[in-house]
Amino acid sequence: MMAADEGAAVLETNNDGPKIPDKKKTKFDVIIIGAGPSGYTAGIYCSRAGYDTLILSGILPGGQLVNTTEVENYPGFENGIMGPDLMIDMRKQSQRMGTTIIDDIAVDVDFRRAPYKVLTGSEEYESRAVIIATGANPKKMGITGEEEFSGKGVSYCATCDGPFFRNLELIVVGGGDSAIEEATFLTKFATRVHVVHRRDELRASKVMQERAMNNEKIQFHWNSEVIEINGDEKMQQAVLKNLKTNEEKTIKVGGLFVAIGHQPNTELFKNQIDLDDEGYIVLKNKTHTNMEGVFAAGDVHDRSYRQAITAAGYGCMAAIDVDKFLTENADK
Ligand code: NAP
Repeated sequence: MMAADEGAAVLETNNDGPKIPDKKKTKFDVIIIGAGPSGYTAGIYCSRAGYDTLILSGILPGGQLVNTTEVENYPGFENGIMGPDLMIDMRKQSQRMGTTIIDDIAVDVDFRRAPYKVLTGSEEYESRAVIIATGANPKKMGITGEEEFSGKGVSYCATCDGPFFRNLELIVVGGGDSAIEEATFLTKFATRVHVVHRRDELRASKVMQERAMNNEKIQFHWNSEVIEINGDEKMQQAVLKNLKTNEEKTIKVGGLFVAIGHQPNTELFKNQIDLDDEGYIVLKNKTHTNMEGVFAAGDVHDRSYRQAITAAGYGCMAAIDVDKFLTENADK
């Protein structure tokens, strides 16, 4: 367990002096759980609207973008920006608006009645509204070389990283909409895209399947898994295994995109917040969850877009919905 405001030294600021969290203070207007683009944006909007706001940043302040290199598609940065830098700036901006940020992990919640309670290992925090912005993590294959070459050829987001892989042969692992959409997208840059799927039929929608099947740059490897990734500074080849014949072959590729689904970070909420069959939060109306006063923003409910900019947009929406909720319930 990280102590309050220590684990994210790398994200800490600053010459203007970010607000040093008052470790004794436990009551806030709004608690935001999670500190990716949606959490920080919600923090900026809530604090700027005058609400005393706490962000509990969790295990990875900055979220998925902390593990990214260059971000070229976040508007406002003509020459792109490094993912960690973008998150540091969002954090500082939220702090400058007055958000208290504590780098600790929520271990339990009680949303049954206001004030809502969020517990860490050492503290119990209370608020009149909560925004869940805990995000989702891409599922990993768990094979040799995956971790080692993550960011050095292995990627979990074609939209984010595809343009860095020009004129190379690439692999996409998976057979769902994401994999097929990403494979098709990557043909803009790659000389060839190998889709490696563990079965002999795709899960992706028919229209996407047809588009991919008709794309001569895409080659399918059915009933197959990637079992190993090799390279030196960067990945250079992958070992494929045919699950029917057990035959193994090595192909030389400059990159491998894992698109086998995401895991939303909702374990903590499952007994109180409505989740779908894959664990994503189900929104009832705008950003409202099934529990009054509890809102959700970003990848924790969004299984389709999953971009930093869309997550930030959802953070803004949730903060505006919180403002309306707190204004309407001011006397309660
Ligand atoms: P998904 O539908 O769950 O597909 C995951 C794919 O990865 C499946 O083909 C699965 O194989 C494979 N897979 C899972 N675990 C694996 C493992 N350990 N090793 C190898 N392969 C593995 O996930 P998704 O494609 O990310 O889509 C998620 C949701 O978003 C879906 O509802 C999808 O329709 C939606 N989406 C929509 C769009 C769009 O409409 N434009 C775009 C992207 C996503 P099996 O098929 O054998 O299970």
